[in-house]
Amino acid sequence: MGMVSFYFCDAAREAGAMITAGIHVSRILPGEGVLLEGGERITAPIVISNADPIRTLNMLDTAADAAWAQKVRSVPIEGCTVKLNVLLRELPNFISRPGTMEAHHYGQINAPLTKSEWKDGYAAGRAGCLPEQLWCELYFQSVHDASVVPADMHTMSVFAQYVPYAFAVGSWDDRRDEVRALTFRSIGRFCSNLEDAVVDAQVLGPPDIEEKVGLTGGHIFQGECLPAYMWSNRLSARTPMKGVYLCGACTHPGGSVIGINGRNAAMAVLRDLDSSR
Ligand SMILES: Cc1cc2nc3c(=O)[nH]c(=O)nc-3n(C[C@H](O)[C@H](O)[C@H](O)COP(=O)(O)OP(=O)(O)OC[C@H]3O[C@@H](n4cnc5c(N)ncnc54)[C@H](O)[C@@H]3O)c2cc1C
Repeated sequence: MGMVSFYFCDAAREAGAMITAGIHVSRILPGEGVLLEGGERITAPIVISNADPIRTLNMLDTAADAAWAQKVRSVPIEGCTVKLNVLLRELPNFISRPGTMEAHHYGQINAPLTKSEWKDGYAAGRAGCLPEQLWCELYFQSVHDASVVPADMHTMSVFAQYVPYAFAVGSWDDRRDEVRALTFRSIGRFCSNLEDAVVDAQVLGPPDIEEKVGLTGGHIFQGECLPAYMWSNRLSARTPMKGVYLCGACTHPGGSVIGINGRNAAMAVLRDLDSSR
């Protein structure tokens, strides 16, 4: 999935775009362009940001419209998901399909919860605690592309919730091993060999995602995706600041690798350019 943005990048370059990565923008100057961290100024009448809305707001600083800033701050942005990147010596043997390799070829496998486990899990996470079970979504990249691992090894990425951003007792560093064990226990209910299959795992809680990916609160969708913050209530690609647009997951229709937020922003820019001619 990480390749999607590389394909977009190639297509944009072929269409004449110049792309620079790994450089922090420190200020957005509406109608004028951006200031880079090193002090360099890039002049541009239009700036489209996919940084999360709090970071975009910080980059706008005093240039942000007050009502828009209030709307941005009103959206909860504390992550509740943990990501595990796991190296396996063999694939899990799912007890619903024993001995087959069938399930691993599906795009995504879910380790489900009951309705009450969902509710209790959410309440526990919000209270700074760990639930009894985690809901887990699994992907096995090496089944589709063996070149990502050494021979006879496999990868499993796990995406699980609910976990707290901050623990009521202890920190992510203190409790990382507990989260790892809970995740494998939650998946292990559905397979017979997980414990022996795991070679190693990287456990990334919301504060780790915040630090490594640059997302406020470690919220992978740039803000809560509950009904109160969706559809017409989600941030719009257009902002009240001259020439400033949003194209990230904080806009309609929310997060995931879908490309629609970018398309919406592009269409808004094109329409606004057309109507200003
Ligand atoms: C750990 C993790 C696992 C995920 N798993 C899945 C999945 O399995 N399936 C799925 O569909 N989606 C998944 N998602 C969600 C999906 O990746 C996002 O919804 C999608 O990437 C949103 O894209 P975006 O354009 O909004 O930018 P984001 O991916 O939110 O990135 C925002 C970018 O802005 C950058 N930025 C912030 N401040 C500045 C600055 N001052 N200057 C320059 N750059 C800045 C950040 O570094 C970051 O790269 C996952 C996300 C995470 C974090």
